[in-house]
Amino acid sequence: MRIMLDAGHGYTTPGKRTPDGMSEYEFNRAVAQYTKGLLEDYQHVLVYFCHEDERDVPLQERTDKANRLKVDGYVSIHANAYGTGWNNAGGIETYIYKTRPKEAAELAHEIQHRMTSRTGLRDRGVKTADFHVLRETSMTAVLVECGFMTNQKEAGLLRADAFRRMCAEAIATAISYTYKLKKSAPSPADQQLFKVQAGAFKDKSKAEEVAARLKKAGYEAMVLQIKH
Ligand SMILES: [Zn+2]
Repeated sequence: MRIMLDAGHGYTTPGKRTPDGMSEYEFNRAVAQYTKGLLEDYQHVLVYFCHEDERDVPLQERTDKANRLKVDGYVSIHANAYGTGWNNAGGIETYIYKTRPKEAAELAHEIQHRMTSRTGLRDRGVKTADFHVLRETSMTAVLVECGFMTNQKEAGLLRADAFRRMCAEAIATAISYTYKLKKSAPSPADQQLFKVQAGAFKDKSKAEEVAARLKKAGYEAMVLQIKH
């Protein structure tokens, strides 16, 4: 399956930062990066980004790319804000389009549930909105707000690498659950391999003779030349 991760905004987007100066994009892009890494541990998954570090990619360009590539799912990653100064608004919320498409609602509930249970932040629920990225995408699309930049405690979390990884794990697990993804086989380095040697010969033909006898007896035999 193909999934597009959308880290909202750009480094230089006006506003869109904590009262003490962290840009929302810095958080969004880190979570997108970690989520991509986690999703690539599953079989048959291709992950695309529609954001770029060099500029704030316009919303139309982001959704056009998703539609052109015909991805199966679109997940937009954001951090929330209430006003511009510090206040107590807080928690996590996930958005789907106002017509409540069933597949998007399922994915959104999985993300919302995993995000709140992992982080322990307030559950503000799955909500509907007429956001561009939800309206103009022709596939399952959700937008997750991972905490408030204007909440001093949550802003601290949004800066923390451990919290960013936690969000990525929640999002990747929700996607893998919703799309029934299977983990890839472990790499050869992770697999244990035990070999049995049946003989060591100076003469290659003698080795081949033993290998032939073993094969006849039903074993998988191989002659290896080992240099000392
Ligand atoms: Zn945002």
